[in-house]
Amino acid sequence: MSLTAALVERAAALGFNRLGVLPAGPARRLDAYLRWLAAGMHGEMGYLARPDRLARRRDPGVILPGVRSMVVAGLDYYTADLPHQLAADPARGRFSNYAWGVDYHEVMTPRLEALAAWLRAQAGGETVSSRVYVDTGALLERDHAEAAGLGFTGKNTMLIDPRRGSWFFLGVLLTTLPLDYGLPAKPASAVSPPQPSCGTCTRCLAACPTAAFPAPYVLDARRCISYLTIELKGWVPRELRPLMGNWVYGCDVCQLVCPFNRFARPVGETAFYPMDWDAAAPPLLALLALDEAAFARRYAGSPVRRIKRARLVRNACIAAGNWGSEMAAPALIALLDDGEPLVRGHAAWALHRIGGPATQAALSTALATETDNDVRRELAGG
Ligand code: SF4
Ligand code: SF4
Repeated sequence: MSLTAALVERAAALGFNRLGVLPAGPARRLDAYLRWLAAGMHGEMGYLARPDRLARRRDPGVILPGVRSMVVAGLDYYTADLPHQLAADPARGRFSNYAWGVDYHEVMTPRLEALAAWLRAQAGGETVSSRVYVDTGALLERDHAEAAGLGFTGKNTMLIDPRRGSWFFLGVLLTTLPLDYGLPAKPASAVSPPQPSCGTCTRCLAACPTAAFPAPYVLDARRCISYLTIELKGWVPRELRPLMGNWVYGCDVCQLVCPFNRFARPVGETAFYPMDWDAAAPPLLALLALDEAAFARRYAGSPVRRIKRARLVRNACIAAGNWGSEMAAPALIALLDDGEPLVRGHAAWALHRIGGPATQAALSTALATETDNDVRRELAGG
């Protein structure tokens, strides 16, 4: 058995659902990516445009001198559909499926490192160097994954396996070893040969709540709920808040409507399952009541912990404003005294959406003592 065929088997034994290998090189869509950056569609994610990052994307040899091969591994994470009555309940906040269980970095990175160690051990006396990446922004993983035969790029910009959909994580292993790039790029039974395109389908473009696709295959991150709830550190643009519904961490709409995801099957990987449905769609009142200690306890080991308590509560305030129920008013009024201006301001916005004499009185009282100008604007409703 060739080294590459053995690598494919080893990856399957480690639990990866798909694997491809290709010669190390720049991403094929680098020019489109540079145009996307030039248009400012990356928003506040300025790190994506840093010259050192771009240099790595142009030439993986900058990351790993002497690199010969890229190994792209995929790990499925689809576990279940959120029951409709929970998904449609505006009193609950929704989390993107990938954040229902354990942080995928914690699951994937050790496996990729184990694969790298195994590869080094196969090289006999030869000195082999390697690096592994899981969604760290150093490489355009989806582009390399497509080139490695793991799927095709959909109009929603996700990588789609025609037989299993798009619910999978990607990781990349760079190695100085040459591999056989002609072998089937998959563990046996994992993926089918890629199909070329979405055809005439445009469901994801039409379904996006914030109209974040200016064109097929182009995502304006500044309008995407995933960016707004996870990456954006500051104030969420007012005009987008009413469009965000009850998403409080990420958004799956453009994947949920994709017909290819009908073929997804629940994974055996228990780490990605939610402990209970409250982990996937918690009551907003519970999110609004989170203090730092409760947040740290609740989201230890979850990707949600990365955005910290203030951003999650900010997002819950927006969802509560979209809920529009007086049931949320007491919790939101309590947040007008929060230590974080971001939380106070978004709570004020939500209270304006709910309306009523009690909320108006609370907003006026808070305005009398508020010193932060951004929060004052929100309190005044201006
Ligand atoms: Fe639109 Fe949601 Fe997809 Fe972002 S994740 S592009 S907001 S549907
Ligand atoms: Fe392509 Fe349709 Fe899926 Fe969008 S919803 S990615 S257009 S197949």
